[in-house]
Amino acid sequence: MIPNSTDAGLDVVTFGEAMMMLVADRPGPLEQAQAFHKRTAGAETNVAIGLARLGLRVGWASRLGADSMGRYLLSEMQREGIDCSHVDCVPGQRTGMLFKGQVSDGSDPPIEYHRQGSAASRMGAQDIDGPWLCRARHLHATGVFAAVSPDTLALSRQTLALMRGAGRTISFDTNLRPSLWGSTEVMRREINQLASQADWVLPGIEEGLILCGERTPEGVAAFYLAQGARLVVVKLGPEGAYCEGTHAGQAVKAYVPGFPVEQVVDTVGAGDAFAAGVVSALLEGRAVLDAVRRGAWMGARAVQVLGDTEGLPSRAQLQEAGL
Ligand code: ADP
Repeated sequence: MIPNSTDAGLDVVTFGEAMMMLVADRPGPLEQAQAFHKRTAGAETNVAIGLARLGLRVGWASRLGADSMGRYLLSEMQREGIDCSHVDCVPGQRTGMLFKGQVSDGSDPPIEYHRQGSAASRMGAQDIDGPWLCRARHLHATGVFAAVSPDTLALSRQTLALMRGAGRTISFDTNLRPSLWGSTEVMRREINQLASQADWVLPGIEEGLILCGERTPEGVAAFYLAQGARLVVVKLGPEGAYCEGTHAGQAVKAYVPGFPVEQVVDTVGAGDAFAAGVVSALLEGRAVLDAVRRGAWMGARAVQVLGDTEGLPSRAQLQEAGL
């Protein structure tokens, strides 16, 4: 348990789609893979797992199909100690899945999604248990679940409004999925609208150009600070991150370098690991620079493994690293 936790509720709640991920056993086009490794995937669930491994009390709300993939995902999340009391397995509906390729040059791997019409995509604002949500200290939301369907967008808007109304903190990872949106213009408008309701906004530098028309970390931070964010952390890949804003009465404006990595195995999941590091540390009352350092260390671990979650550290590993 972390400082300031209350017995009444969870530390963090997140809503999102989990998918079964099949990772190819060798580099090359997906269709040439002969065997696949089975893993969990999903931006929000990656963050939930990252937070739970550090001892935070995390709730994940979602829908799965009543199929073997759904049962696999549910048991994996429960094994991580995550509160899955608000996850429904719905007969007749399907769990989303994806294939991920391997690369040998550190570039982004090919990903093929099979998530359209999934059980999670049919969630909507009516699925929010407001009292359960608002007893939590914090909401973590991302641009992925908002992009899944018009109903999940409505749900995302509503969860942010409820938590904001309840005076809780909110982190938002812009996490763009252009192929899920009708147009770039709609994506920009909706993501920036959601970000305007969050306290801590975590965009990537390339996303900043699309969302804010800004090329520099300072420009991206200024855009979201002007929209109402209290803290903006711009992710810069291997270079680390830039943070600007105010937290616990302290103003901050600084670059935090990345942790050197010998070999990049898979870039996917770095942003989620980073978010888990930043959010956990801020909720523990750590200073912003410590939080961003923890995020950068966790992001660096994530790029050195094949799946999205096996690099996420335990509390003991974090302490060993002095973070
Ligand atoms: P996203 O996945 O959201 O685009 P990034 O790729 O910027 O985010 O990764 C998130 C964080 O993970 C970065 O801010 C950085 O701290 C860390 N990170 C990512 N890639 C590397 C890398 N190749 N070497 C070291 N750290 C990395």
